[in-house]
Amino acid sequence: MQIAVIGAGAAGLTAAYRLVQAGHRVVVYEAQPYVGGRTHSAQFAPGHYLDTGAGWLTSAYTRTLRLFEELGETGRLQPMKASAPSELMIDGKSFIGAGLPRTPAGEHLIPGEERERLRNWLHWLEGYPPLGFRTFNDNETASQHMMPVSPAAERFLFAPMFEGLFAPLSEQSAEFLRSWIAASRARYFQVRDGMDAPWQRIAMHVDVRLNARVEMIRQGGSRLEVVANSVGAAVDGVVVAVPPPQGAAFVTRAIEPRWVAQLNYEHVEYSGQCRLYLAMPGDAPVRIHRRPLPMGRIASVEWQSGSDGAWGACPPGWQWVLVCANEAYNNDLIDLPDFEAIERLWADAAAIVPELPPLRAWKVRHLVKWRHAVPTMAPGHFTRMAAYTRRPPVVFAGDWTHQACIEGAVRSGEAAAEAFGPG
Ligand SMILES: Cc1cc2nc3c(=O)[nH]c(=O)nc-3n(C[C@H](O)[C@H](O)[C@H](O)COP(=O)(O)OP(=O)(O)OC[C@H]3O[C@@H](n4cnc5c(N)ncnc54)[C@H](O)[C@@H]3O)c2cc1C
Repeated sequence: MQIAVIGAGAAGLTAAYRLVQAGHRVVVYEAQPYVGGRTHSAQFAPGHYLDTGAGWLTSAYTRTLRLFEELGETGRLQPMKASAPSELMIDGKSFIGAGLPRTPAGEHLIPGEERERLRNWLHWLEGYPPLGFRTFNDNETASQHMMPVSPAAERFLFAPMFEGLFAPLSEQSAEFLRSWIAASRARYFQVRDGMDAPWQRIAMHVDVRLNARVEMIRQGGSRLEVVANSVGAAVDGVVVAVPPPQGAAFVTRAIEPRWVAQLNYEHVEYSGQCRLYLAMPGDAPVRIHRRPLPMGRIASVEWQSGSDGAWGACPPGWQWVLVCANEAYNNDLIDLPDFEAIERLWADAAAIVPELPPLRAWKVRHLVKWRHAVPTMAPGHFTRMAAYTRRPPVVFAGDWTHQACIEGAVRSGEAAAEAFGPG
């Protein structure tokens, strides 16, 4: 079959690769001038780059690791160097925390009886295999789940960890939280040369058209027509591997509204993600990873020397700072001009870590702005999606359809290819 894959992120490229292996003829359409989607790395100089989206993989990503092994890419995996310990700052006072679940961070903040329940809960979670997101029994929010265990843990441990990256715990699925905590037992890796390097390798095996923005899919006799940059191409099937805000525009005009409507695109919410990365020569006098509590506009400020690694790589003898905005603030920043977002993030970071050198001193200033970032996973989300997303001739893939993060994208891509069977 002739199949079009829309989107050259982890999901689309995995789908395309598996489809080619199955004997199909495949063209991938990618709107950007590069592949990788939300694994994109900003390159500043040889050996100096920042993973702007995904920053790490875990040993729990079994399908992703198998794919990398097939591609000869596992040599790029290196143990994660970004800092694990964190400081919790409350009312101007900082508390040293530690990674979960070995020592629940901020124990001082959790009343005795809650601490005991939290320990039991973490012990119970040890029975969870760290194999990613499960969709069964997912009928409550993370807040509802944590309430009887430890409201203080929710506020002081999990909200700072998750709300900066995802969404308020009151909107997030409990299974999502449980899976993440369980996955923290896995080993974590960064990808040398940038998180997108393996996806660039996979793109060498498939026909990818860059700068090709798909505008619509429409019916053309017994086949489908994919229209990219106003040029149509006839195909037998389509894998839509773009997130809902982009995909909705052309999918809702696709040919089978009776089931496309059931996708409930509008129930998939995405939050913005804004981060400020700064780097300059010289060693950082301290190693800081500070999460202010109660959380305000900033989720965390990290300041380290290059040799300690970053979400990417910093040259030896350099120092770097990463400022991550908190969940709600991301949405305020996303529409501001870059210079203003940088100034605001900087001012907030300097209030949390006053020792930071002034903004003008930093040689590299890079604002990360994702408009289609990490999806909000409401309870039951994936269960609903599973029923609708894999029906040829139009099959959906992406982290929002199957399971979160890179592993979810890879699994969804493989499932999309399987839906078409052998070529
Ligand atoms: C800030 C941030 C941090 C993250 N951290 C991690 C992490 O540490 N670990 C982890 O595992 N995951 C992380 N993730 C999630 C991970 O990056 C994603 O789950 C994964 O990359 C999603 O892949 P995808 O293929 O589903 O979607 P995407 O990567 O979004 O790919 C979709 C592609 O479709 C293209 N596209 C859109 N519209 C069109 C169109 N009309 N025509 C053609 N092409 C189009 C886009 O340009 C894009 O390339 C993070 C994400 C963000 C944003």
